[in-house]
Amino acid sequence: MVRNQCDIRDLSYPELTAYLDSIHEAPFHADQVFEWIYQKQVRQFDRMSNLSSGLRAQFKGHFILFEPAVLQKNVSSDGTVKVLFELQDKEKIETVMIPASQRVTLCVSTQAGCKFGCRFCASGIGGWKRNLTCAEILSQILAMNRITEARRISHIVFMGVGEPLDNYDNLIKAVRVINSPKGLNIAARRITVSTCGIIPMIKKLAEEGLQIELAVSLHGFSDESRNILMPVNKKYPIKDLIDACRQYSEATRRQITFEYILIKGVTCTEKAAEGLGRLLKGLLCKINLIPCNPVSEFDYEPPSRDQICSFRDQLQRLGVHATIRTPRGKDVSAACGQLRHTI
Ligand code: SAH
Repeated sequence: MVRNQCDIRDLSYPELTAYLDSIHEAPFHADQVFEWIYQKQVRQFDRMSNLSSGLRAQFKGHFILFEPAVLQKNVSSDGTVKVLFELQDKEKIETVMIPASQRVTLCVSTQAGCKFGCRFCASGIGGWKRNLTCAEILSQILAMNRITEARRISHIVFMGVGEPLDNYDNLIKAVRVINSPKGLNIAARRITVSTCGIIPMIKKLAEEGLQIELAVSLHGFSDESRNILMPVNKKYPIKDLIDACRQYSEATRRQITFEYILIKGVTCTEKAAEGLGRLLKGLLCKINLIPCNPVSEFDYEPPSRDQICSFRDQLQRLGVHATIRTPRGKDVSAACGQLRHTI
């Protein structure tokens, strides 16, 4: 049964039709409600003018459409917009809108804080607070549409605060609404889930039948090099992770993107490139090199442009398709690894 005053966006389409059935209303009202919420993007049940007043009253009595409060909005010189939202229980999250010539990408958070404590990332510094609900995940997209008045958001990347695969059920529920023609209608190939490498959940994701993109934060080429930067590697060692990625790409026939941070003198060495070449041999994948972005609590530095390019070239020679990620929104701390859940 539906909780009193639950956010209606916590209901999947089948759950909403089941709710309508339970109150003896026709299932087609679910289509109308989805259209109001995700396509017309209204925030009040009273504005859902093709529903009877009785049904609107019923929805108002049972559900809310919570709007996260905007605590801060920063606009980068490159047009990237970062918003710090406050949720109902005062937890905070950040969301980033990244405009480009052919696309508008939204970087969405999935948890308040993060448990995984990667040694270069701001998101885990204050620890982990809680999972976001499906409604809170979706509300970031709806709210950013309004706040930024941007061109239509075309791509979603789950690369904000938190570990998406550690909040699996709410993530998948949100992905289905984002992808559904009745919902936000964003193609699966324009939705990317990034993970620090939660192996059982990668295996589960492979069975979902979703055509979404999977990105895996690798950041090392061996257990030794990865353990130092990513404590999660002690639980899910790199060889097992690569095996899971291999199974994923075989089951879905999708290419995997590996993210690899470039830290001067640490990750950007010839030995690392050789190690990556060996590790990724024969896997349907590409590697996205991310020069490390500054986080005040850590004193890492990015390599020089020359070092970055020669690292990429060495990987290419070893048969690994490598690209360099251009940082966006760095001047307002909106780039990879700079998002937080505290002010
Ligand atoms: N928890 C998920 C989602 C975060 S995505 C994951 O780990 O994949 C954010 C990406 O930015 C990850 O690849 C992360 O490792 C990377 N990142 C974190 N801190 C960074 C920093 N200081 N500079 C560049 N990239 C960073």
